Amino acid sequence: MTRLIFLGPPGAGKGTQAKTLADHWQIPHISTGDILRQALQEQTPLGIKAQSYMDKGELVPDQLVQDMVKERLTQADCSEGWILDGFPRTVKQAEFLESLLESIQQQGERVVNLDVPDDVVVGRLLERGRKDDAEDVIRRRLEVYRSETEPLINHYGAKNRLVVVNGNQSQEEVTSALKNAIA
Ligand code: AMP
Repeated sequence: MTRLIFLGPPGAGKGTQAKTLADHWQIPHISTGDILRQALQEQTPLGIKAQSYMDKGELVPDQLVQDMVKERLTQADCSEGWILDGFPRTVKQAEFLESLLESIQQQGERVVNLDVPDDVVVGRLLERGRKDDAEDVIRRRLEVYRSETEPLINHYGAKNRLVVVNGNQSQEEVTSALKNAIA
């Protein structure tokens, strides 16, 4: 049973690796960024509420994302494991997730920090060219990561749930390092 949370700055390769491992283990890959982008594209009420935050590189309010994650993790296909990519991003979200997992009896999650130096991350994001990958928005997303999300490394480290994997290697090397670290 694999329940895995990916931490790491934007551009660390979380999405790519999460997708590869989810395929490998045949479990859902749950990316809150993907769900939000889809909602935005379809202009659902959630997408409309989230848009201004996403365009600026700010975090969407906790409550909106938490409701989304609760709805997704309680679906039947999540009973055999999952990979969360982009959630939690704040200590508050992490606390929410812990109590949610307890209430739906899905504990035992592991957390991976994909470690990649800042200059590498910025280079990768500029290449990717997504709408929120303009240079000023990238800078803001990195600031938000540092102030809101990075504290989760210590949060999960203190709970002995954390594994650190060097994300500054080829895609294949990172995948195999992840498989070894999680096995
Ligand atoms: P991502 O694809 O994970 O880089 O997410 C893209 C954008 O979606 C972020 O910059 C945030 O605006 C929003 N977002 C994704 N996940 C979360 C989350 N857990 N909490 C708040 N905002 C989020």
